[in-house]
Amino acid sequence: MGIETTLLLAVAKKLLTKWKNQLPADDHSLLPSEVGLMGGIENLALRNEDLLSTLEGAQSATTAVLDAVTQKIKGFQSQIDVLRNDEILGTKSLDQLLTLFGCNHKPEAKSPQPEEFRNKDPKGRQTNELWFLYHIESTPDFVGASDCIRDAWYSWKEFISLNVWELNDDNKEKANVIIRTKYIDGGGPILGQAHVGPPNGYVLELEMDKGHSWTKTRFEGAVCHEIGHLLGLDHTPGDGHLMSEYIKEGIVSPSQVDINNALALGHYIPALRPTPEPEPPGPYPGESEAARRRREIQARYLS
Ligand SMILES: [Zn+2]
Repeated sequence: MGIETTLLLAVAKKLLTKWKNQLPADDHSLLPSEVGLMGGIENLALRNEDLLSTLEGAQSATTAVLDAVTQKIKGFQSQIDVLRNDEILGTKSLDQLLTLFGCNHKPEAKSPQPEEFRNKDPKGRQTNELWFLYHIESTPDFVGASDCIRDAWYSWKEFISLNVWELNDDNKEKANVIIRTKYIDGGGPILGQAHVGPPNGYVLELEMDKGHSWTKTRFEGAVCHEIGHLLGLDHTPGDGHLMSEYIKEGIVSPSQVDINNALALGHYIPALRPTPEPEPPGPYPGESEAARRRREIQARYLS
């Protein structure tokens, strides 16, 4: 599919004409070029499936199409503190839009509920603590990508009591979180997605865009953001938070607001943890002593 270039151009022309009529002549220089605006509209559509399908299905730049685009401009501006909510994608709004990234968070992607994901205390009673056994299936092609993933878990563990272990290839079938790369939007603004995956909802999938040209901090921040969704968090309103809908380069750990939202979901501050840190699970059937030791060392590093 994809959006027809002729449609994008028609939408950009009509919006620019409308905005020029709204703005005093002195301010017309604050509007982007037709080509610039086409890029901005496409960027918005890549972040919003409903807008994308509207534009892909449209025959011409009707009022309904223009309204759909305007709605998304409004939604974007309302999330960014420094922008005026004038529903005009001027150069300032466009610059912001193009430097911020997004994720494909679906509201139905909630944290795992089954008992298998919950820690038991020493007496075998269920607690509210989540228990993540993650396996890294693939990473983007840069040195240190796996360490970024470990650091991202650690950023949450500093503030929220979590049980996290990394499973290597020997034990990957025990994992309840699979982390992998996947082509998501062809290098567009979407960095990743997290969801409760098939076949039975017991395995969480955290997928990072394979087509993206990653930097280390952008990758670590995006993984940390997606882990926030695995904890059950939705997007934090406004910008500058790890869990903001529009992700800023360089933010690699949760803000106080993000942490408060996680605590409100029933997660604990590590110091107030009601039960002792559990032992790593296993040994797994067929696991060698060397593999078991390696896993213990990893667990110590991560906890
Ligand atoms: Zn998100």
